[in-house]
This record gives sequence, structure tokens and C-alpha cells, in this order.
Amino acid sequence: MKELVLTYVYVEGGIVVKKRLLLLASAMVMSLFLVACGGGDEEQAGTKEGLDITTSFSILGDIVGNVIGDRGTVEYIVPIGEEPHEYEPIPSDFQKVSDSDVFYINGLGLEEWLEKLVQNAGDIPVVTLSEGVTAIPLTNEDGDDPHIWLDVQNVILMVNNLVDDLVERDPDGEDTYRANAEAYIQELEELDAWIKAEMSTIAEDFRMIAISEDAFRYFGQAYGIDTAGIWEINSHEEGTPSQISGLVDKIQERNLPAVFVETTVDQRYMETVANNAGVEIAGEVYTDAVGQDGSGAETYIKMMEHNVNVFVNGLSQ
Ligand SMILES: [Zn+2]
Repeated sequence: MKELVLTYVYVEGGIVVKKRLLLLASAMVMSLFLVACGGGDEEQAGTKEGLDITTSFSILGDIVGNVIGDRGTVEYIVPIGEEPHEYEPIPSDFQKVSDSDVFYINGLGLEEWLEKLVQNAGDIPVVTLSEGVTAIPLTNEDGDDPHIWLDVQNVILMVNNLVDDLVERDPDGEDTYRANAEAYIQELEELDAWIKAEMSTIAEDFRMIAISEDAFRYFGQAYGIDTAGIWEINSHEEGTPSQISGLVDKIQERNLPAVFVETTVDQRYMETVANNAGVEIAGEVYTDAVGQDGSGAETYIKMMEHNVNVFVNGLSQ
């Protein structure tokens, strides 16, 4: 309890009365009183912990969320179910980015809409998390394949880039960020080893992922499986008859038991391929977004586990 002496003056019947009042109050009541009197200015500024972060798409949102934990907030721009290559930002996206302390992106040309968004969102730092990754070049055009996250080791590299940037931006959070990252990297290493073991159970002849967008090249390189798409990258998707028949030929050459579709791509192209090749679509996989709530693929780790289970089941017939 604290003592507070109040002196107040009032007029009663034409006479000025001066009174002193002794208040006993708990610290909480005191602080409320001081704020009400305008005496509590000193707190507010500089007490916010952590950072308000926006990421370009949901997979990055989950990865960043694992590292910041409760220290700050994470949002993402491209909604689950939409693909990030050709997304069109809406007005609330500009607001989201301009309200952030930092905007984390994948880079490697994934976010084609980035320039438009950043130009309209003010002076927000944009940080590319793929810095230092060994990129696979696109074969049909200039530039690199952006789907680096489908190799778990690349995500570990991104987490390390992320921690460096977070510590620089919010030094008080260093211990939290480093501890969270260490625990997350441990989980990612386990995931990486599990994927290698699972994929190695598929017969050599059937080791090919045939799918709409050839997004699994980093995955294929890391986990020992060939890949083939109708088209190379979603931003240049066409699904022309020659692209369709090109993939049908590859499926028949290998005598593959199954093909796959993505959650973020129009599935009609792959249905045509499957019908023409006389194979089944074994299931949906996640490439450019995590799954909706209840899908079982709500996080990066869960979506990778889901994908591997679908590949192994589909190709082990
Ligand atoms: Zn993609």
C-alpha cells in the first residue's frame, strides 16, 4: 500500500475551502490514478516486445512463426489455396505490409507481385530469406526455380538467415530466437532424415513425380527422385496439347503407377494427363501453400509429411 496526499480546492458558499486528503491505495490503483491524471506517460513508448512480421506466403509464415514463437506476430499475404507466383495483392495487403516492422520473402522470383506491393506499402524493410541457397536454374527461361523450401535443408538455411536478421532487428529477443530456432532445426533435421528413409523405399523404376507444375526439383535432388511437370513454373503455365502429350510420354516410358496434383493448381490439366496415360491420380500434394485448418497439412512439417506419404503410397504399387 502507498500513501498519496491530495490537496484540492473548492468554493462553498462564497468561501474558498482548501482540503488535504490522504489516500491509501494499492500500487495498481495508484498507477490507474496516475494514468487518469496524465501522469503515466513514461510507460507506453518502447515497451512493445518483439516484431510485427509479414511474410509473402503461408509456408514462410509457418517457418517464421516457429522461430519467433510468442515474441511478436506473423501474417502472410497469399491466402491458403492460392498460388504465390501470380497473386494479385488487394488493398488490405498493402495495409498489412505497411503496418509491419519487416516483410520476409522467399525471393528467386517467386513473388512476381512484390514490386507493386512494396511500392504502395511505404518504407518497410524487405528481407530475402533464400540468400546463399544453391539455386536450380529454370531450363526454359532465364532465372532460377524458386521452390527451394521443398528441400528441408534449404529451410534450415532460411531459418539461419532469419535468426541473423531477427537478432539484428530485435537484440533483446536473441535468446528466444536462438532457442526456438535450435528446437525447430532439430525437428527439421528429423523430418529430412525421415523423408530420405521413406523415399528410398520406392522402387528405382517408379521414382518419378509427375505433376502439373514441375515444382519438386529441389525435393527430387535432395531425396533421389526424378520429376516432370506439364509446365515448368506456374507463372508460365499453359497446358498446351504438346506439353500434355510430353508428360504422358514420360509417364508411359517409366510405366508409372500414379501421378499427382497440387492443392493450388487447376486439376483439369492433370486429369487429362492421367486419362491419356491410363494412370490414377494418387492424391493431392502441397507445393506453394500449407493446408487449410483440419487438412492435416497446416504446417510446413505436416505438409511435407503428407506429401511424402502420398508419393510413397502412390508409387509403391
Ligand atoms: Zn509454384
